[in-house]
Amino acid sequence: MNRSSKQGKLVVISGPSGVGKSTICRQVVQRLDATLSVSATTRPRGAAETDGQEYYFLSPDEFRRRIAAGAFLEYAEVFGHYYGTPREPVQQAVAAGKIVILEIDVQGGLQVKAKWPEAMMVFILPPQPEVLLQRIEARARGEDRQARQNRLARAEAEIATGKADYAYFVVNDVLDKAVQDVIDIIEQKTE
Ligand code: 5GP
Repeated sequence: MNRSSKQGKLVVISGPSGVGKSTICRQVVQRLDATLSVSATTRPRGAAETDGQEYYFLSPDEFRRRIAAGAFLEYAEVFGHYYGTPREPVQQAVAAGKIVILEIDVQGGLQVKAKWPEAMMVFILPPQPEVLLQRIEARARGEDRQARQNRLARAEAEIATGKADYAYFVVNDVLDKAVQDVIDIIEQKTE
């Protein structure tokens, strides 16, 4: 390894729905000048979303074509839709010495861990379980009761997997502190 070259890093950030991981990721990306991977998904585009920004919005056929072509570093089905991380941009950015952040679910996180053992696995936890329920309710996005209950059940399963398989845990109680904790982990100030 050339000591003068900056080493890239792959960071997986997961956590249950409603835990605030998008906000944390955005701030970490800004402060570390990191790259946030843009995932592909088959879920419908939200009114405030732009193709290529929050996600690349693909048809199920196109998504499956890309799976077959090996275009994804990982992919998973979440809430009945496919989500996946395009492989090439991640490999290129890490090779160029960037810190690359994947905000993905635990199924995808475990695939990355298996293929890329040096990836830093960070899991975001809520301060108390009730907080998660309140946040899921607050941003219901017009979902019905059943959909909210599904999100909560899934959140509980995600936390169980995260606790078993992730290396670093950050509690999102005070946002600024959570952001700093993630930065310290990435910069290895916690070891
Ligand atoms: P949302 O539809 O609310 O944006 O995301 C739903 C879930 O899908 C979140 O838990 C999010 O972390 C996860 N997700 C987003 N992109 C990816 C991806 O590329 N791969 C995987 N495995 N999960 C993803």
